[in-house]
Amino acid sequence: MSEFFNVLPPNKALQVLLDRLDHQVEREAIPTHQALGRVTAEDITASEDLPRFPRSTMDGYSVRSSDTFGASEGMPAYLDVVGEVPMGKSPRVDLSAGQAAGAFTGGMLARGADAVVIVENTQTVDDSTIEVLRPAASGENVVQIGEDVRSGDPVLPTGHVIRAPDIGGLLALGITKVLVSKRPRVAIVSTGDELVSPGVDPGPGQIRDINTYTISALVDKAGGLPKSVAVVHDDYEAQRAAAIDGLNQGDILVFSAGSSVSSRDMTASVIASLGSPGVLVHGISLKPGKPTIVALVERKPAFGLPGNPVSASVVFDLLIRPTIYALSGCMSPPEPPSVQARLLRDIPSLAGREDYVQVRLIHSEDELTAEPVFGKSNLIYTLVRADGAVKVPLDKGGLYAGEEVKVRML
Ligand code: AMP
Ligand code: MG
Repeated sequence: MSEFFNVLPPNKALQVLLDRLDHQVEREAIPTHQALGRVTAEDITASEDLPRFPRSTMDGYSVRSSDTFGASEGMPAYLDVVGEVPMGKSPRVDLSAGQAAGAFTGGMLARGADAVVIVENTQTVDDSTIEVLRPAASGENVVQIGEDVRSGDPVLPTGHVIRAPDIGGLLALGITKVLVSKRPRVAIVSTGDELVSPGVDPGPGQIRDINTYTISALVDKAGGLPKSVAVVHDDYEAQRAAAIDGLNQGDILVFSAGSSVSSRDMTASVIASLGSPGVLVHGISLKPGKPTIVALVERKPAFGLPGNPVSASVVFDLLIRPTIYALSGCMSPPEPPSVQARLLRDIPSLAGREDYVQVRLIHSEDELTAEPVFGKSNLIYTLVRADGAVKVPLDKGGLYAGEEVKVRML
């Protein structure tokens, strides 16, 4: 078997690719309420004020603040209640000095009012009179016009990944359509003589294809459109034909397995045959995931992932996920959720290599601990049983039991 030359750390390998990307982001307008996780393809600006009218933030009474100055429990201000402003309606009442009108949370203020006295600071004297027990400053308990957003304010920049509250914020302004980048299409080719479809009972030496499906799921989660192009044997011509198909159908090509350097591993030579510049990186300083290929074929990113499903998913996270976001116009993808936990056991590693070790989280009474799920490299259930992964950085020889670690959640 030959050796890996010029092994790069994962982030450097990614940078080599990103530096050479020359991709025109394609855009499409979609309904805002369907835009969760999509990447904005334009700067979005407010074209109106929010709120459009002064709103009460509490239940109580619209008042003229000057009528309440000096009010106290010992010397309340007496106000005439001249009506109320119903929700969803404009005020019909006009306050003169000494008057108040019922106000509801989120409703408009009465005309002439500049503050709201909360109901707890009043006492009902009779049907049409209240005592105000505390002064209200001008603007108290009121959201002013444009206090949330002003017309003309930037709302979301280009390249922003839309979250649930963003959908609310856009719709509040009447922005019912957004221009987003098209989801990058990711063509997946799985290779290996041993693979059968999951619905098939494997014969001797055969295994069910996992990667086609886990990679598809990861693509989907990263905002891409997965497309399984083919499952092919370790046969150069068949793989080359599938790769060409994949490049035609996708913006990114992902090859599963055969990414190492033995005579059975053809991904590198298949990718190299497709166009220039071809293979940029072969081998990264990562465990699991060393036999990884990063390539660019006629401006389309192509990856060779190790067949080991655990390696494939670790490499996906480090290289393919950010590439999908980059093709969507987002250069800093949202960090996967993570938690801090105390490590329960030593994790050995080697300096000069980045390690990702799956861990299970254990919630005990007053702390969160992380227990490594060790296992031989080809065990999908090390992932299934894990909640997340701990990274041992490149420059460290391992992590010690008792250390606080960051767990990247699966
Ligand atoms: P390779 O990268 O071809 O050396 O494969 C490494 C290991 O991953 C081997 O044990 C393969 O059987 C396994 N493997 C390859 N492709 C898949 C797949 N699609 N699903 C599950 N395991 C796979
Ligand atoms: Mg193989």
